[in-house]
This record gives sequence, C-alpha cells and structure tokens, in this order.
Amino acid sequence: MAGILFIISAPSGSGKSTLVSALRSQVGGIDFSISWTTRLPRGSEENGREYHFTTREEFERMRDAGEFLEFAEVFGNYYGTARRSLEEATAAGRDLLLDIDVQGALQVREKIPEAVTIFVMPPNPKVLRTRLRNRSRAEGPVDEAILQRRLNEASKEIENYGQYRYILVNDVLDRAVAQLEAIVQVERMKQDGKPLDKRTKRELEIAEGCREVNSRERLKPILESFGIDPGTDPWQYKLL
Ligand code: ADP
Ligand code: 5GP
Repeated sequence: MAGILFIISAPSGSGKSTLVSALRSQVGGIDFSISWTTRLPRGSEENGREYHFTTREEFERMRDAGEFLEFAEVFGNYYGTARRSLEEATAAGRDLLLDIDVQGALQVREKIPEAVTIFVMPPNPKVLRTRLRNRSRAEGPVDEAILQRRLNEASKEIENYGQYRYILVNDVLDRAVAQLEAIVQVERMKQDGKPLDKRTKRELEIAEGCREVNSRERLKPILESFGIDPGTDPWQYKLL
C-alpha cells in the first residue's frame, strides 16, 4: 500500500523543527524529505542532513529539468522538494513528511489532494518573537533585520491556516507533540481500515480536536493577536 504524504508548515520560529524531531524519535516508518535550498547552512547544520545546500545556478538547472515536486522562494532563497524523495518513499510504501512553506504546500496539494496537511501555529506574536530570538542566539549572532522580516512574514503565513486539514497550536510542547503523533497514527489507521482499540480511540479524539473545522473557536484569540480577522473566510487567501 502506498505511504501517506504528510505536509507540515508553520511560520519560522513556531517550533516546527522541534515537533518534527520529537515525532521522528517516537514514531517509526516515516521518512523525512530533505529539501534543496540556496540558503547558507545555519549553526550546526550539515549538507545532506537538514538540507541539500546548493547554488542558485544548480537549483535553477534542477527546476528547469523538472526535478522538483514543488519549489518556492522564501526569504530570498529557493527551497524545493525533489520528486525523487516522493518516488523513493512511494516505492518503499513508507510515509513521507514534507516540511515546506505555505506556497509549496498548495502546489503539492494540487498534485496530491489526499496529502495530509498540518499547520503549526505559534500561541501569539510575543512568544513567537521570543522563540525566534532564542533560536537565532543559539545559532550565532542575532540578525535583527532577518528576525524582523520573519516576524512580518508570520502573519501572512498564518492567514493561510484554513487551507490545512489540521491545526496544531504549539503552546505546551508535550501536548503539541502528542497531537502530532495522534494525527499520524489516526491517518494511518484510516488508511489501514483497522478497528479502533482504547488507545486509538483516545488518539482519534485528540486528532479530531485539531481538525481545522473543530479549531475555529480556539483559534480566534490567536488570530486576533496576529492582527487577522477571525471572521474572514480563510479560503479567500491563496498565495499562488
Ligand atoms: P521552527 O522550526 O518552526 O523555525 P524551532 O523548532 O527551531 O522552530 O523552534 C524555535 C525555538 O522555540 C527553539 O529555541 C525551540 O527550542 C523553541 N520551542 C519550540 N517549541 C517550543 C514550545 N512548545 N515551548 C517553548 N519553546 C519552544
Ligand atoms: P528555514 O530557512 O528556516 O530552514 O526554512 C524557511 C522556510 O522554508 C520554512 O517555512 C520551511 O518550511 C520552508 N521550506 C523548507 N524546505 C522547503 C521546500 O522544500 N519547499 C518549500 N516550498 N519550502 C520549504
């Protein structure tokens, strides 16, 4: 049986990498697609581990040769998912997780509508600023201009939350990790069509609570804190 394609997106600094690495340490059978990017490595990042780091020329060659499933320009750099990542996971029947931005998520969803999309929401702008600052500090000198640009971009990305099937508010880390795990397990159960036991019923409850359609009331104050009108139909936003 073909694996499930999971797509996770979030404004920079929301805690997506933290959640994904917790998921990877606790749930097996899921591959992580290593994207290509033209940005420079940060901190302890290594070529081929976090990203395949490449030049603009090489990226454009790959793009023109149709080697990307999706690609986007984010913060002035190219990022893209190689088609090969998906082909390999599909051939092996394994689940695949893409950590990509909103523009990329929309491109993939158009090609693969059954992809399971997850949006990670920071609890409010103040917390996001603190997390971005902490992360920058841990990686070297804080670049204030980049920090400000990422904060400005966050609201624009959050406006697209309605395009995703599940919304995770990354407030208390353990809870957000449990929610992410529950989503993965529930989507697997649905695919397998296996009957639910006691544990999986609980996971279903958790995952259902994160469905976008069930999250609207809970998200209202968060959206307002980012200056987004929660009454606005999120489907009117489309980046592509
Ligand atoms: P992203 O991948 O979304 O850019 P990171 O995973 O690098 O974000 O997290 C940004 C910073 O926030 C890191 O310093 C991380 O340790 C911290 N962080 C992530 N999730 C939480 C959380 N739930 N509570 C407190 N700090 C968090
Ligand atoms: P960062 O530079 O902080 O690692 O990532 C910046 C943004 O680029 C994040 O939103 C991340 O999800 C996104 N990103 C990483 N890889 C890809 C990719 O292959 N395609 C797209 N569209 N976005 C990506």
